[in-house]
Amino acid sequence: MRIFLKSIPMLILGVVLFVPNVFAANSVTRLDGASRYEVAVNVSKQGWSSASTVVVANGTAYADVLTAAPLAYKYNAPILLTESSKLTKPTKNRISQLKPSKVIVIGGSISVSNNVVSEIKNLGVSTVERIGGRSRYEVAQNISKKLSSNSKAVIANGTAYADSLAIGSYAARNGIPILLTTAGSIPEPTKNAMSSKGTTSTIVVGGEISVSKSVYSQLPSPTRIGGNSRFEVAANIAKKYYSSSKAAFVSNGYQYADALAGSVLAAKQNRPMLFTDAGSLPTATRAVIGSNSKNTFTVLGGTISVTTNVVNQLKNVIVGKKVFVDAGHGGYDSGAVGNGLKEKDVNLAVAKIVNSKLSAGGAIPVMARSTDVFLELSERVAKAKSNNANLFVSIHANSASPAATGTETYYYTKYEADNSKRLATEIQNRLYKALNTQNRGVKIGNFHVIRESTMPSSLVELAFISNVNDASKLKSALYQEKAAQAIYEGIIGYY
Ligand SMILES: [Zn+2]
Repeated sequence: MRIFLKSIPMLILGVVLFVPNVFAANSVTRLDGASRYEVAVNVSKQGWSSASTVVVANGTAYADVLTAAPLAYKYNAPILLTESSKLTKPTKNRISQLKPSKVIVIGGSISVSNNVVSEIKNLGVSTVERIGGRSRYEVAQNISKKLSSNSKAVIANGTAYADSLAIGSYAARNGIPILLTTAGSIPEPTKNAMSSKGTTSTIVVGGEISVSKSVYSQLPSPTRIGGNSRFEVAANIAKKYYSSSKAAFVSNGYQYADALAGSVLAAKQNRPMLFTDAGSLPTATRAVIGSNSKNTFTVLGGTISVTTNVVNQLKNVIVGKKVFVDAGHGGYDSGAVGNGLKEKDVNLAVAKIVNSKLSAGGAIPVMARSTDVFLELSERVAKAKSNNANLFVSIHANSASPAATGTETYYYTKYEADNSKRLATEIQNRLYKALNTQNRGVKIGNFHVIRESTMPSSLVELAFISNVNDASKLKSALYQEKAAQAIYEGIIGYY
């Protein structure tokens, strides 16, 4: 990959790595802000024009605040953030606008100082209630006491924030308390909370590193929602509880403040919280978006937390779609040979650029081969199937008499005939224009990979290796890039 990218001129690299806005189709709303305090204010503006209760939590230390979402939801209260020692200006202004009669402060006086409590009272709030505790576990227990009775409890690791924030919206919406544990043993306040709440079943969030088998086995009727990363845990929660929802919240998975502030709004809208890296959507997040066909996103935070590139990926209709990119031939099978070219090399070069574009665009591309190796046709079909590919695109170059010239794209009628034809048409109509070749059209072709693939599939013949003019284009990095762009845009056109 690195070696390959080095060989492309910088101008082309730019095109490969950034998603053009022109394909925007999914709906993305960003709740922005210059700071986490402003983001929380903007979340509250989105969900509340007035509020009789507001929850205030520490914006710089997560220990006490992880379990606040169900409480805030119960009182239909936005969560605003504060520094420990003083109320930040955006938070102060927002409390003045909302004019709540009550503010609930989360955590002990180390999390939110008595000075902040005084400042809130000075804004004319008649009741300021603190829900504290000697530890995060006790804070969680004390929050659970404020919730209505529920036979279920969520159990998450209290020394990290991602898992409890991923489940926050679901727990809040369903009035389920979030209780905290260490990986290896259940803290006393959590045991006490379960016994006083009469917990008969538990939802354990996170893998065995977060909540060990030993802890799991001590919990009442546990069900685990695990994952290999915070992104996967959040994706698995979304898969389990929100598979029919087309909408989701997206926040940076390595910062807790935006997700915390957003959790109550997500609960009000009955939407899951997904996590992202700042620069690009992680595969697990893409996968759940693609498999649930999500198309409406609320992004939490500014462009440093969630870059424009992530927003463009979310907007892109191919986000999360699994596209099998099949570079024809390989290894001892050179394919067509002529004019100094081997077809297998041309196919692979174009396939790699298509792969990069799909990946940068938010899709989940799978390459049949990424090196010069031989694969049986049946292996290619099997690989696409085992990867649950949504689309199959096979890339070839043509050969015939020296006079034969032009671009053509094939589909077959055995599976997904209409969709395959549509895919072939979307690609063909862009490809011959991009290569400035003769348009030989969309055709039915009885080729193994498009005959046996059960998903919509098409096979492109870029141009003729056996024709001098066509071959000169196939040789050129610029035309390879143009061809890949046309195929990429054809896939987007299909969706
Ligand atoms: Zn071929």
